[in-house]
Amino acid sequence: MARIITICNQKGGVGKTTTAINLASYLAALGKYVLLVDMDSQANATGGMGISVADEHHNVYHVIVNDQNPLPMIKKTSIFGFDILPANQALAGATVELVSMEEREYRLKNSLSPLRMNYDYILIDCPPSLGLLTINALTAGDYVIIPVQCEYYALEGLSQLLHTVNLIREGLNSDLQVLGVLLTMYDKRNQLNRHVLNEVHKNFPGRVFDAVISRTIDLAEAPSYGKPIIQFSPNSKAASEYRRLAEEVIKLTQ
Ligand code: ADP
Ligand code: MG
Repeated sequence: MARIITICNQKGGVGKTTTAINLASYLAALGKYVLLVDMDSQANATGGMGISVADEHHNVYHVIVNDQNPLPMIKKTSIFGFDILPANQALAGATVELVSMEEREYRLKNSLSPLRMNYDYILIDCPPSLGLLTINALTAGDYVIIPVQCEYYALEGLSQLLHTVNLIREGLNSDLQVLGVLLTMYDKRNQLNRHVLNEVHKNFPGRVFDAVISRTIDLAEAPSYGKPIIQFSPNSKAASEYRRLAEEVIKLTQ
């Protein structure tokens, strides 16, 4: 039975999609079967793996809004064991359409439950908001990973996110656990970055991943080639950092 991990932070540009793609790649490289569900209408996870985002009739929108079977929509990536349930811009409209639906918070959870048999991990890449798509993703999850960019306003918004996680736990999904906070875009030469790292450890004692993702041009460039770091630059620092994250995730979810 797959463990479902939701990668969530309502801020944009903090490294959610980069983490989703590269964590999925290394989980697969370590022998796990992984499905990445792209829940962002910008479809960056889909595009970043070199998968066409133009398929208007077979993407996660149709799964959650029209109850279509996700199985035939799943695409294999260039990495063995790593599949994607793609998104498309149509998903932007789903937020509004879901509002009037029954069981609107449970639609993703219900759609994914038959797929749990086929994978070791299902990762969900969230949009940059706390709207119904993110609520669906948190309701479907067993765990949440919170990427935090090492910048001045890093902690801002985190209390709101944790409040949302608590509300979901009380009302919609009592199983949800914070697996960890992941520091991203870290530059050890930058004093502010080091300060933020210490602050995050102070605020989340014992809940920060040992793996820290450095700021590197490799991670910024890889998506434009439709490749994860394991293929784009397998010997880079970023590659070993994401491998380490995958190892930690496996250990924590055993
Ligand atoms: P989100 O999904 O939270 O909006 P992304 O993963 O798309 O964030 O990252 C935002 C931008 O920063 C992207 O252009 C991405 O390529 C780049 N990026 C992400 N992580 C890093 C990193 N560790 N170093 C350098 N650039 C990064
Ligand atoms: Mg994203």
